[in-house]
Amino acid sequence: MAGKSLLEKVWSRHKVRTLPSGQDQLFIGLHLIHEVTSPQAFAMLREGGRTVLFSKNTFATADHIVPTDTLDRPYSDPLAEKMLKALESNIEEYGITYFGPESGRQGVVHVVGPEKGLTQPGMTIACGDSHTATHGAFGAIAFGVGTSQVRDILATQTIAIEKPRVRRIVINGRKSSGVSAKDVILTIIRKLGVTGGLGYAYEYDGDLIAKLNMEERMTICNMSIEGGARVGYVNPDETTYEWLKGRPFVRDYNSMRAFGEEMKSDDDAVFDDEVFFSVSEIKPMITWGINPGQAISIDESLPQITTLPVSERENAKRAYKHMGFSPGEKMVGKKIDVVFIGSCTNGRLSDLMEAASVVKGRKVASGVRALVVPGSQEVRMAAESKGLDAIFVEAGFEWRLAGCSMCLAMNPDKLKDRQLSASTSNRNFIGRQGSPKGRTLLMSPAMAASAAVAGEIVDIQKEGLV
Ligand code: SF4
Repeated sequence: MAGKSLLEKVWSRHKVRTLPSGQDQLFIGLHLIHEVTSPQAFAMLREGGRTVLFSKNTFATADHIVPTDTLDRPYSDPLAEKMLKALESNIEEYGITYFGPESGRQGVVHVVGPEKGLTQPGMTIACGDSHTATHGAFGAIAFGVGTSQVRDILATQTIAIEKPRVRRIVINGRKSSGVSAKDVILTIIRKLGVTGGLGYAYEYDGDLIAKLNMEERMTICNMSIEGGARVGYVNPDETTYEWLKGRPFVRDYNSMRAFGEEMKSDDDAVFDDEVFFSVSEIKPMITWGINPGQAISIDESLPQITTLPVSERENAKRAYKHMGFSPGEKMVGKKIDVVFIGSCTNGRLSDLMEAASVVKGRKVASGVRALVVPGSQEVRMAAESKGLDAIFVEAGFEWRLAGCSMCLAMNPDKLKDRQLSASTSNRNFIGRQGSPKGRTLLMSPAMAASAAVAGEIVDIQKEGLV
């Protein structure tokens, strides 16, 4: 009999039954909630006369709307204050563990879950946020859900869902200097397309993945959704177990590890599809358009419309119009206005270290606004213990409090007018950073830090900045 993938094993362990609709009813081991998608779900829960079934499996934090300049309450934005109050009252009523802004443990939900050791191999994890695939870096099956599904999980700890097919993406080779996990995932999305993963879970494999640390694996799994895959995961290994060792919610290390070994894909597992990449061909990447698949290597020219697949041409025309770029141009030398280093993609300690190593001893270019927003309060403290805050502040960066910040601009951190932003986040949709005319270029922390000091986009490999 053929071996099984991790997805197959975890799914069958958590499947309650097949529903009349043909979907599966799946038990959710860990439910993460935050202030944006939960208030309505709790309201629907009450309307239906239900309560939270397993409050011990539910954990909350606040991330999208929290200001990053002050913790003072009430927030200057009355809507943000209202949302946080709703979350606080719900978690109190239902006895849910809460990592709030005053706790010293708050942060972006996809940074907080792993750093507390809540995210573990072989789990099913759901959150009302599309970047929940991040947790797949630990060998969990993790996906974003909508508001009514948040209600369903609160009420039943289960969800009605279709089992995805599995595409194994094998990435072999050695990264050259200046190439990061962000460049790897941007390359995958560019090749497979922003809808190429629809209906699939992505299993990332290969000798490059085996060499990545957990934060790099999280960067890759985080952006699975930008390639259309709701789930992305890496099989657990020694790197996974070592990272989790001693974290507060890893109460039984040996059981956690044994379950991870049991759940990981068999050597002879059969997949619905397989794709192979050689990382030696990957260069530092940058987006130029209005979706994450509109990306090029930093040394390439922007594509001619006629060279693109027919299905992508209209969107490319829209992208050129919005961004003010033209086919044939290079991204190197484009003047930037804002640099945002943070988010659940690249707001962890290793990301800040990567950016700080570029910035150290240099100054932010005149006229550029540069922000560093740690992904969590624990990341912020760890960075400060290494003196990274001093490096950034000395260079002219704003050293902010933890949160989503300018990734989505649901708090006061927003682009103005047509500002061009070098961002380490995951989405470059029109209006994403708070200005309908604003423009976002996605890139790695080292590329963003280099842009901050140069005042323009640079090729970090050529400039010797890494
Ligand atoms: S950092 Fe950005 S992508 Fe991540 S959860 Fe927050 S808003 Fe969403």
